[in-house]
Amino acid sequence: MESAKTFFEFSNRITEASSAALEKAKAKFGEIEEITEYNQQKVLKAFIDSRVSEADFAGSTGYGYGDTGREKLDRIYADIFGAEDAIVRHSFTCGTHTLAIALFGVLRPGDTMLCVTGTPYDTIHSVIGLSGEGMGSLKDFGVKYEQTDLGKDGKPDIDAIEKALESKPKMVYIQRSRGYSLRPSLSVDEIGKIASLVHSKCDAIVMVDNCYGELVEKIEPTQVGADLIAGSLIKNAGGSIARTGGYIAGRHDLVELCAYRATTPGLGKEVGCTLGENRNMFMGIFHAPHVVGEALKAAVFAASLFENLGFSVTPSSDESRHDIIQALCLENSDRLIEFCKGIQSGAPVDSFVTPEPWDMPGYDSKVIMAAGAFILGSSIELSADAPLREPFAVWMQGGINFHSAKTAIMLAAEGLNRKGLL
Ligand SMILES: *Cc1c(COP(=O)(O)O)cnc(C)c1O
Repeated sequence: MESAKTFFEFSNRITEASSAALEKAKAKFGEIEEITEYNQQKVLKAFIDSRVSEADFAGSTGYGYGDTGREKLDRIYADIFGAEDAIVRHSFTCGTHTLAIALFGVLRPGDTMLCVTGTPYDTIHSVIGLSGEGMGSLKDFGVKYEQTDLGKDGKPDIDAIEKALESKPKMVYIQRSRGYSLRPSLSVDEIGKIASLVHSKCDAIVMVDNCYGELVEKIEPTQVGADLIAGSLIKNAGGSIARTGGYIAGRHDLVELCAYRATTPGLGKEVGCTLGENRNMFMGIFHAPHVVGEALKAAVFAASLFENLGFSVTPSSDESRHDIIQALCLENSDRLIEFCKGIQSGAPVDSFVTPEPWDMPGYDSKVIMAAGAFILGSSIELSADAPLREPFAVWMQGGINFHSAKTAIMLAAEGLNRKGLL
């Protein structure tokens, strides 16, 4: 009989550190699995309640009138997010586009958008009009922007928010995820506290950029007072199966306005053919709780392993999580480069490619990225990005399959070990 093969060579040091990391992560894995099961039942119940059947996958063409699959998928997302209504479309090209549809959908000239989580995610800057000119940003259309910065602890500054609400903004905007910063992500509970404060002071719409946060906890922002949320389908909600797209969920009147922006005033949700994308989008949201759980386990394992190897990481391996992002502070460029090469070498797609630091537009330093995904740019699949500057951290996220992601993370650690960087 043939004995079991060794497919990857790991030194004793990395094998032992990984075993210890896994042991340390066990309690956290138990918590993740409990949340996964809860969310999986939530999703299953939504499918059953909407009576999903084979015919819903057929897909429509042209105007897409009466597409039952599209209508049921909207209903399922609304149910999962505990929202009145939702619009889920493959024609939303990315998270930024989806957020832009929501912002332009509800904001009008003269309105103020108040962001209470510091500077928002980079790609939203040109939507708001913080960068770029003459592209038709909110600013070009007379929508004003205000911001309250995060406190020293990286948390929203409640006093500053309370003060800013005096100027009666039309919208209060919250970014749930840390994005590519070292600030902590916001828990749904913290979002709820801000939403309650806002609703007690004025009638502003509370909108949440929910990217990377979906299904990480048992409840979603729309269940604690957020009026509108949006996210990408090539992150958590698409479960790594949706090939593109985005979703918006929330109050019925607001989702309707978003639908008028997405298609046209008057037509709204009634049009939009689904071509052949329905099955993938249904399967994606069905698998999403499990896939998010796998990504969270990968993140916790990486945190635990790099803590064991002596690095500072955020969140730490035993901290509670509100998004799927893991930052590892590797202290210098050499380690960041080697880490990303290791992650790339363990990808199922493009493993043979060597990532190189490059001058990415919009960054003031070189950036190195590792990604080997079935869907271009999908960051629910294991990927890592590191700007080569202070604080010399790499942000990794995703991993649709824990065992494969763990192997890639071990390869990254092994690469550092071989180069004498540990
Ligand atoms: C990814 C992300 C976006 C933008 O999504 P894209 O799909 O990259 O356009 C916006 N906000 C946050 C917090 C994100 O993580």
